[in-house]
Amino acid sequence: MWCITLSFIDTVKDAGIVGAGGAGFPTHVKLNAKAECFIVNAAECEPLIETDKYLCRTFADQIVEAVMVTAAHIGASHKVIALKGKYKEEIASLKAAISRANADIEIFEMPTFYPAGDEQTMVQMVTGRSVPERGLPLDVGAVVDNVGTMLNLYEALHGAPVTEKYLSVVGEVKEPIMLKVPIGTPVTECIAAAQPTIRDYAIILGGPMMGKIPADDKAIAEAVVTKTTGNIIVLPKDHYLFQRASLPLDTIKRQARAACIQCKMCTDLCPRYMIGHQIRPNLVMRNIWREDQITDNQEYLATFGDAMNCCDCGVCEMFACPMGLSPRKVNSYIKGQLRAKGIQVPRNMEPVAREAIDNRRVPTHRLIARLGLAEFDGLHAHECIELKPETVYVPFRQHIGKPAVPAKAVGDRVTKGEVLGAAAEGLSANIHASMNGVIVAIDENGARISGKEV
Ligand code: SF4
Ligand code: SF4
Repeated sequence: MWCITLSFIDTVKDAGIVGAGGAGFPTHVKLNAKAECFIVNAAECEPLIETDKYLCRTFADQIVEAVMVTAAHIGASHKVIALKGKYKEEIASLKAAISRANADIEIFEMPTFYPAGDEQTMVQMVTGRSVPERGLPLDVGAVVDNVGTMLNLYEALHGAPVTEKYLSVVGEVKEPIMLKVPIGTPVTECIAAAQPTIRDYAIILGGPMMGKIPADDKAIAEAVVTKTTGNIIVLPKDHYLFQRASLPLDTIKRQARAACIQCKMCTDLCPRYMIGHQIRPNLVMRNIWREDQITDNQEYLATFGDAMNCCDCGVCEMFACPMGLSPRKVNSYIKGQLRAKGIQVPRNMEPVAREAIDNRRVPTHRLIARLGLAEFDGLHAHECIELKPETVYVPFRQHIGKPAVPAKAVGDRVTKGEVLGAAAEGLSANIHASMNGVIVAIDENGARISGKEV
């Protein structure tokens, strides 16, 4: 039941909802808007992740209710849940829920490609409009939220803040599993629940293209599940993905200078180039050798300004380049240089998708093979196991913006759902206790709760 004493936005803010798909943008800020189109992203952008599909199969009624309430708030007449057309079971669940609710929600079926779940790619496919360079879907009359965010929103409307997370564990484990865990659960407990099949593993938090790689065993031991953790991939330490990720920038730049053959595949397959943005990674790669010789900011802008429009999707690096080069990392480096030099890169506010867009999509199964993950392709999680750890460590920065401010002290007893850290002024989000217990440690970074002390 929606708390009638609070506005919709206050309800969302109090519940500490942030983008669950990985970005962690505070949802009360995003939804404080009016738009004609509301799109729920259930496309499961990256390979191997199972979470969005599980949510669609299991919580279709809750998702539909949250979509209708959210769309009403932002004034959206066009309501869409976008997911891959091959997700037959999930589409059937959602359609049945839409029918039960007599809701006017469109199911938008996407082809199986990467990055189908990229917000700007999805907006272009659903609405036919390209988001401006470095702009927001709102610039073309759309708001996009992840399906996990919708489930959290449903819970908030019924009085429950964000304290739990659904995530999949895949890769070198007995079989892929879904987990439901309190926020702050050690990642190692999640991996143990999935029964890893190798001892000497490294992990990716998120998907293989854009996920985070903890640097070493200590970082893995310290990692915890946050509001944005949707997946864990367990792989051997010497896996290709870790070797690629550990290449030093100097080596990457040297390889670009020596081996780029200017085939232009990186540009031709770049999803942002295809929606009409000014981004040509092949030119950045061609000119990187003379970067140090460019002292004039206007020339630097003309030569390297494109890099600012890179969204870090990794298509160029992990799929397109026949020479195994890393335009993504070179772009990332150049972005830092542009910022450091104070160079403002102009934005095209009215990009138009290129004609070839529908013919230049990266098929997911071929990407999976290219990533060295073919043996896990087609394996799915069915069961969901609920974990109840003895202690959790709840970070105060699980979102874009300022960290939450500690609201408790060591020795305080807390119950699940109590505010642990209050949203700071400006862009921030509340953080709640994810279990009953006693605070055994707390500082500006987070709080540790022990259930043993209760
Ligand atoms: S990572 Fe590569 S493919 Fe992706 S947006 Fe950047 S340049 Fe384009
Ligand atoms: S795909 Fe590779 S080799 Fe071809 S232009 Fe881009 S960086 Fe150079």
